[in-house]
Amino acid sequence: MDERTVAATHERVNHFTGVGCALQGLALLAPFALGAGWGAAGVLVGIPVAIALWTVGSKHALTWRCGRCKNPLASDDVRICPSCGAALH
Ligand SMILES: [Zn+2]
Repeated sequence: MDERTVAATHERVNHFTGVGCALQGLALLAPFALGAGWGAAGVLVGIPVAIALWTVGSKHALTWRCGRCKNPLASDDVRICPSCGAALH
């Protein structure tokens, strides 16, 4: 094993505030809010709206960072940490 190459893992970072969280909150409320206004039809419309908002919110809420130096990563597809050069799995 090459000792110069340091292995590290992608660390998942969850943000519990901000845009992603707001969208997820809206997603939870959408079926109830639309159901209150439009009855059963509102619930039927609200469920796909909720799923869409939740999906978008999840992408905003979830980011990645290097497990070694904590440098933020663009995505979990990054294989080499641009900051410390660790090989990411
Ligand atoms: Zn790093």
